[in-house]
Amino acid sequence: MAGYKGIMALAEEDRSGLQETFGKQGFRDFHWIDPTEIVVSQWVRLKCEFGCVDYGKAACPPNLPSISECQEFFREYSDAWVFRFTKKSDDTQQNKDWMKKIETNLLSLEREVFLKGHVKAFVLLASNCSLCADCADNRESCNHKRLARPTPEGLGVDVFATVSKLGFPIRVLKDHSEEMNRYAILLVQ
Ligand code: SF4
Repeated sequence: MAGYKGIMALAEEDRSGLQETFGKQGFRDFHWIDPTEIVVSQWVRLKCEFGCVDYGKAACPPNLPSISECQEFFREYSDAWVFRFTKKSDDTQQNKDWMKKIETNLLSLEREVFLKGHVKAFVLLASNCSLCADCADNRESCNHKRLARPTPEGLGVDVFATVSKLGFPIRVLKDHSEEMNRYAILLVQ
């Protein structure tokens, strides 16, 4: 059935094929969501601007589209998958290494899905782009323009509200002794 702008939903066999690909690449914990159910809010952008040390980096606001443009972006897809990654560690370096490996795997997954013919495949990373030791401060100076991707939060996604709709756990952590839940989103049509 055609939706917004005539966007067609994926056939069930296409969705099953994608889930098989996720499994083969080692992704086990994921859930489908209608992209129109992804909550995009202005307050998330304000939290980036006032409260995040990464504000201004090359794959972060203000180097990203406006919130209304982000809302429009999500409506241009028929399918989205939310991927959950969980870990408990108070070792900062270990946590960074863990996120970097996930980033590499997600970029590889996006490419595989693209090569299957899903030309719009686009992944939102579970943490800020970490391809370089020193991130540039604008898109033009980004060292890996082809590979860098934003996070869901960077595009204004209220991750708390969105993943809660799927029954995924999420809460504010008080310290590193608590288990982290990180979320990435793969958009497909
Ligand atoms: S590729 Fe490098 S410069 Fe570009 S956003 Fe990622 S860390 Fe920053």
